[in-house]
Amino acid sequence: MSRQLPYLNESPYAAEVLSRARITLTDLDGTLLGLGGSVLIDAKGAPALTTVQAIIEVNRAGLDVVVCTGRNRIQTGEVSRILGWSSFIAELGCIIMYDRRQPAEYLLGQWPDGVLLPDETPHQAMTRYGALRVLTETFPGKIEEHDPWHTDREVTHVLRGSIDCRAAQEALNTLEVPIEIIDNGIVHPPRHTLVDVDEVHVYHLVPKGTSKELAVRTLLERRGLTSEDAIAIGDSATDVEMMNAAALGILVNNALADPRVLAATEELDTIVATHNERGDGWAEFAHAWLAARGF
Ligand SMILES: [Mg+2]
Repeated sequence: MSRQLPYLNESPYAAEVLSRARITLTDLDGTLLGLGGSVLIDAKGAPALTTVQAIIEVNRAGLDVVVCTGRNRIQTGEVSRILGWSSFIAELGCIIMYDRRQPAEYLLGQWPDGVLLPDETPHQAMTRYGALRVLTETFPGKIEEHDPWHTDREVTHVLRGSIDCRAAQEALNTLEVPIEIIDNGIVHPPRHTLVDVDEVHVYHLVPKGTSKELAVRTLLERRGLTSEDAIAIGDSATDVEMMNAAALGILVNNALADPRVLAATEELDTIVATHNERGDGWAEFAHAWLAARGF
């Protein structure tokens, strides 16, 4: 049976957190951005300024927003810069940028010191330790790099295919460094070279022990804040995980169509939903936050 989440505008708890929250962590794709990754459209994909206007009002009020996404550092940095925000978390919590002028900080979970060769990125190390090789050998024709999203990554790998994640994890467990595979849901790539695959999933390879949640906690601590000061908004199971590090979690309405996302919310009673989908849902949240903070 699917779970009924309270709506943002009907929850006294949400109202209380909105009135004091100082920072919001936001997912990008499917949350702030609409179909095709645009911010200049409504939830259905028609040109609209709803989300952008909400962003301008939040920026004008001086409220702090930090993007937390699976995208790479270059993409996340460009999007954040265009929207007027300086800190961000990229590659599913493995990269934190506190400020554009400072170097990126890598979070590598359980990887011991000394894993990396001089000048080697964690992404390159994963290849050297054989992560891609064991997966393509275990599942020939069923997994490949998620071209063109696999480029310019520094820590995590992004793959696509159709494989048994438990068997994939067992194959990865034979490697010298601890690597976890995450199924990030169904995608519809315009082209691929997979063989006899009906449903294509995106998979991320991350250092074991990393997460959006841990990255959010790290960033909050660096800012002198706690989870009590924070809101997290998103649309996927990895975003629900990030909501563990915030006083209030918000799912945009399109997230409710995914039973895996709803199942992930079972252990948290601090999550509410917006009435609207994607960027329209983000704007609904932003206006509620602004009103609650007295702007
Ligand atoms: Mg998303």
